Amino acid sequence: MRVLMLAAPGAGKGTQGGLIAEHFGVPHIATGDLLRAHVADGTDLGRQVKSFVDRGELVPDAVVLDMVREALEEARNDSGGYVLDGLPRTMEQARAVYRMTVELDMTADVALYLQVGQDELVRRLLARAQQEGRADDTVEVIGRRLALYREVTEPILGWYERRGILVSVAAERAAEDVTREVLVALKVLQTVAGQVPDSDRRSIDLTGLDAAFGAAPEPQPGSGV
Ligand code: ADP
Repeated sequence: MRVLMLAAPGAGKGTQGGLIAEHFGVPHIATGDLLRAHVADGTDLGRQVKSFVDRGELVPDAVVLDMVREALEEARNDSGGYVLDGLPRTMEQARAVYRMTVELDMTADVALYLQVGQDELVRRLLARAQQEGRADDTVEVIGRRLALYREVTEPILGWYERRGILVSVAAERAAEDVTREVLVALKVLQTVAGQVPDSDRRSIDLTGLDAAFGAAPEPQPGSGV
């Protein structure tokens, strides 16, 4: 199973990415975690990226792509699967990771999009700020990270949709509910992966399932509800 996690800061990429990786027995390669570990360990790379991470700015592509290539090569020597979380964040990174994974013969099966509204993202990030005290979880830096997401990351969803590998899930719900739906979707896809040529793949939008599975629908005028 090879998954790219695509979602805004605060959407639950880390939580869901970790659970998916554990379920399928593949490494969870989270760029933010790797970068923060370098900063905490005071490595050369850590010193190079600290100011970018603290300000919520994107670290230069070359740095993050080298780091990910190393992790992917390690994954290839293991099961060959991965959950990549935090990259790609820009169209250039999307193209670069595609080229890299073609070369390594490990292109993604699924680009998983966790959909969460803006207000809920801010609420979650501020709540996390109090618990974890991450340097980039201040109101100002959160605003910058969300703006960058909207400007440069969200537009790449269309590229994955056209490739037919985008799976979109409504993620403004309890984490367990999101996990259940994601795992069901991935397991179904796993059974067809390899049997359907890439050119025949179709993206899947599950974001409407919310209403079907219990979220209270908006009362319709005249429906008597
Ligand atoms: P979040 O998604 O909540 O912003 P992450 O832990 O994924 O958190 O990323 C934290 C920070 O690490 C980003 O704000 C950025 O500075 C840096 N970073 C992570 N991934 C990338 C990437 N693919 N390209 C550039 N910078 C990155």
